[in-house]
Parts: sequence; C-alpha cells; structure tokens
Amino acid sequence: MYNSEAIHNVHYGKKYNNKPQNFIEWIIAYADKASASSRTFLPRNKEVFENFLEFAEKLQELYDIGSKEYIEEIKNKVVENEEDSEELRTYGLISPDENKAISLAEKLINAEKDLCGGKNLLAFYHFEIPSIKSYLNRGRELSIYAGYSIMIDSLIHDASDYIKSKIGKEVIISDEGGSLLAIVPSSFNSKEMIKSLDLSPFETYKENFMEFKLAEAHLGPEENWKNWRSEDPYFRDSLRGFGTLINKFLSSPGKINKVNNNNVIPIDKLCNKCKINYAKDGKECESCKKAELFYKTFTSMSRNKSADPQISEKIKRLRIYKLVEEIQERNEEKILVKVWDTVDDLNKDFNGNEVELKKRRYPVVMVGDGDNFGQLKSSVTTLTQYLEINRFFTYMTYYSIFYALEKTAINFYKHFSSPVIEFQPILLGGDDFSLILTSQELIPFLYYMDEALVKIGGRVDKDSQKNYADAAEMISSKKPYQWFGISIGAYIYKNTAYPIFLAREDAEELEHISKNVSKGVFQGKYFGSEVIVTIMDEKSKGLLEKIKEKNGICILGNNMRNIYETILKFENSGISSKKILDYIKLEGDKIRIFYDVARNNSESLEIVMETISNAIRNGYDIEGYLVLLGTLMSSLEQKNFEGKEYYKTPWENIGVIQNESL
Ligand SMILES: [Zn+2]
Repeated sequence: MYNSEAIHNVHYGKKYNNKPQNFIEWIIAYADKASASSRTFLPRNKEVFENFLEFAEKLQELYDIGSKEYIEEIKNKVVENEEDSEELRTYGLISPDENKAISLAEKLINAEKDLCGGKNLLAFYHFEIPSIKSYLNRGRELSIYAGYSIMIDSLIHDASDYIKSKIGKEVIISDEGGSLLAIVPSSFNSKEMIKSLDLSPFETYKENFMEFKLAEAHLGPEENWKNWRSEDPYFRDSLRGFGTLINKFLSSPGKINKVNNNNVIPIDKLCNKCKINYAKDGKECESCKKAELFYKTFTSMSRNKSADPQISEKIKRLRIYKLVEEIQERNEEKILVKVWDTVDDLNKDFNGNEVELKKRRYPVVMVGDGDNFGQLKSSVTTLTQYLEINRFFTYMTYYSIFYALEKTAINFYKHFSSPVIEFQPILLGGDDFSLILTSQELIPFLYYMDEALVKIGGRVDKDSQKNYADAAEMISSKKPYQWFGISIGAYIYKNTAYPIFLAREDAEELEHISKNVSKGVFQGKYFGSEVIVTIMDEKSKGLLEKIKEKNGICILGNNMRNIYETILKFENSGISSKKILDYIKLEGDKIRIFYDVARNNSESLEIVMETISNAIRNGYDIEGYLVLLGTLMSSLEQKNFEGKEYYKTPWENIGVIQNESL
C-alpha cells in the first residue's frame, strides 16, 4: 500500500527492475556490496548487540543458523574481546588489531589510485533552505503557514527530480523532511540545477558537498582508520562505517548562498502577511502569494476540485498529499477528508454555517519526532543499511499517522452520514512530522498511532522475561532490542485568532517535555516503539513550570483509552473540568482531594478514587495527570455535533466496523 519514490532499494535481485542504470549507480552499488558482504550492523550500544546474540543462541537450539560454536565465537569476541580467530570470516571486524580491517581492504583503499590516478569518484551532496522556521513563522494564518511548508517540500522534490533525471534514480539517499541528500559524481556541478529551481520566494539556500573515497563508504572517514590503540574494538568498529561518514558530512558547515537582497522597505509597501518582504501592491508580497497558491492548490486537490495544473503536478509528489489521497482511495471515498481554508472553519459545520460556541471544535497543533532515529542512522555500517533504516522510520511514521487518521474517522468521527476526518498535514519528514487536528480527534488519534507503532515495531516491558509457548511464537513475535519511540507535543488553542506559528512553538515546547520524560521514565521501562505525548492548552500551560518534570502530564498513547473512559465517567457523574482544576489546586494530595470530593460531590467519590488509584497504578503523577484530564475535558465538554454528543461512543463498542487489515 505504501510506496515512496523517494527511497530506493539497493538490492538487485533478478526481478528487481531498478537495477543500476549507469556508471555512477554501478559504482555506488559495488562499493555498498563490497561493504555489506563483510559487515554487520553494529549498534553503538553493545548491550543491544548482546541481546541479539542471545536471541540467536535460543534460535540455534531450534534451527541451525550457523552452528552453536559460531555464535559462541562471535559472542566471545563482542562480549569478552577474545583473540581473533582465523576461521572467523569477519574481514578484520572487531579484531584486536586495529590495522587488520585496513590491510584486508587494501584493494578497495587503492581503488582510486589504480583506476583513475587517485581522483575521488564520488561525493555527497546536500541541499536545503536554511532556517525553514523563519518562513513558517510568517504564517499567522493557516494558508501562509502551511503554504510555505508545502512550497519548501516541493522545492526539495524539484531538486531531487533534477538529480534523478541527470544522474540516476538510485543516487538519492533522502528527499523528505525539507532537505535533499544524494551521492553524486565528484565532478557534479549544481549550477544548472540551481538555475532550474524557483528560489525567488527565499532569501537564501544552502549547499554542502564532500568527496569521499570508495573505501570510506566501507570503513568510515579515513581519520577513523588509525590511532585507536587500546580502545574497545567493538566501539572502534561501530565508528568505522557508512553512518559515521554521513555524519561527518552532515555536521560540516556547508555554504549559504544569497538569493535576494533585502533592502529597506517603506512601511506602506511592507507585506501584510509576513511583514518582512516588499509588496508591490502594498498588500501581499510575491513569496506569500506563491505560498498561498500552493496551499490553495493542495486544498482544491484534496476536495477533488480543479486546481492550478502546474502546481498540482508538483504537489502530487508530496507525502502530505499522498496521505490524503490514500485515505480517500483506500476507503473508496467512504471517508470524507476535510481540509480547511482557515482554522475558522472549525467554528462552522460542514455546510459552512456558523455553529454555537459549545459545538465548536478546537484546533490542535501537533509536532512529533523520533527519539533515537538520528543516533541509529549514524551507527549503520553500509549505505544499504542506511537506506533500509531510513525507509523503515519513514514508513513507520507515515503508516502510524495514516492508520490513526483512518481509525479515528471510522470509529469515532462518525456522527455524520459517512465517517469524516478533519486535518491539515503540514510536514511528513523521514522521522519528524507536524499536522493540525481537532481536539475531538486527538484522543483516538494518539491511541491508534501508538497501536500502529506497536504493530510495526513491537513493545516489550524491559523487566518481563517473556516465555514463548513454542518455536513459532518465538520467531514470529516482535523482539525490539532498543527504544524507537516518537515524542509528541500537542497544543490545543481555543482562540482561532491565535497565530499558528506561536501555537507551533507551544507544541514544540511540549514535544521537548515528552522527550525529557521519555528519556527519564519510559525508556527505562520499555524496548520498542511507542507514542509519548504531552498535551496542554492556553489555560493549563500556565501550570507547566510546576509539573513539567512529572510524567502524569506526559503519557503513553495507549493510556489515552483510560483518559477517554474517565472523561466519559466524569461527564456522566457531573464532574466538570472546573472541578478538576479545583483538585489540581490541592497539589496532588490524595487525601485532601478525597476529602474535598466526599464533602462536595459525595456521589462521585467512587469514580474519583478509582481514577486516582488507576493513575498511580500506571505510575503517573496525580497532579500532572489531573492537569492532562482537565485540559482534555475542557476542550471536549458538552461538545456535540449533528445532535450527537462526543461521548456517545463507548470505547468497548469501537471496532465493530471491521476494516481490512492494512
Ligand atoms: Zn509576505
């Protein structure tokens, strides 16, 4: 179901039709194969590799995967750094002699000298628009904010398409998430490519270029070949690989080139939208106009209406559009995807009529980012692994968002003749994303996103020793050996006049809290993938300083179901979000809260006690948890739509509508 043109596979089986087409693609393929045949993935954290070997040992008891002795030998080398064994065909990998791998790769190291007089054949090339945020920050309104994001995404694909057509499809390493990374011939000159791009809406663009030796793709940057002395061979070899070479390249400064010179602009000619550029008509600058055109084209296409043909072609390539298209197509248009002209559309029903205050939906700006993805990518040893891991994370992020939107539409947002999902994707990068949802969709979305991630990557409690029923279960069950969760910040704002770029900054601050709590709490508990989320609104954010270290405000996506059921119970027993905020004033003091409830709302004592003991059982801090509950309740209370209340769908009935598995 999922097909991204952006990430190419470098496996060349008989049936694979993306075989290298030209000289440069063959060189890349060769260099990578030479490397892959001798190397394995060495996670920088040795413990992860040890866990993997343990699994291999268990598996060996059931199937012959290369003899017990062989695994034992690798284990001894990795774990106890035993002397190198001549039988072990590791091409010098993890050898105590740091020069072993180098001398074994002599032919490869001398390849350039032997083939082309010592000249490097290959180079990395990177292209991006620097400080994307400075453009997004021009967007007080949705059309400008999302428009700039779509326009930049599209520009990167223009650059990528240019390189694909001139050099080859296989040379693109990644072109999602606002930058382009490719392997090019060292003779590559970007001048013609730059000329072909429309850079007029931007002040600057940034390029980076670095030649490398074929052997460096195999052994990492040349400076890592020597002077390791008594350093642990495992650690040494985890830094002698393709990931380290890419890291070296990506951390080098690159060159920023100017496109436009910003002269002093008379105040009456300043663009009304961005307040930065010159506006010929005194209203809107050309850049903002273009950004808006990109956004309008996106919304028209999403509504299956005619749109600017040239820009439509550009937008078709983007993953944010593919997401919308796929939800519509896969469900034979049974799901209505609703995109907005402005966030004020949330104050209206689907026919465009204003609705009363208590029926409005609130916008939620959401940003998310993979926790250890960058670190994992940097520890790969070959290009193939890099592409595979990149593809895996890209797929994981895309699929979990797709799954969550679809499930939310089908199971929750169905108070209409057909299920609806309202959202605006802003960016779907490789391992980061941002989108705007409604507060009504937030709870199921996070729950299902977490569910999707667990389906893909699995999740295990670090402390629980799993006993498998049989060999089949042992092999088929997911065995994550490290953490690859996604940290999310979600900011609900009730005043739709609030500038979107500020809401995004709030969401980023909350994402940061998720990252901290993820590191401090959840990563100590689990292996595998999960959604960690922190949610606040303009009111509760005032309490942030008090509770930001606590995990109650920041929870696992899976626990969203408890939250939903608790809100339902509270609603039914007449506890309002206002009451919750009163409890928060009691600073998480259980006894005082119970006393207050017993005195003022004695009939709801049982449910409050149950909620609080549940939160404690899940390891959550009460104060933080109550803030989260209060935040969500105040954005959902009394909300009904088309005559039906939000809470009319009890969770246990969900899933009655069966959907084919993805
Ligand atoms: Zn402007």
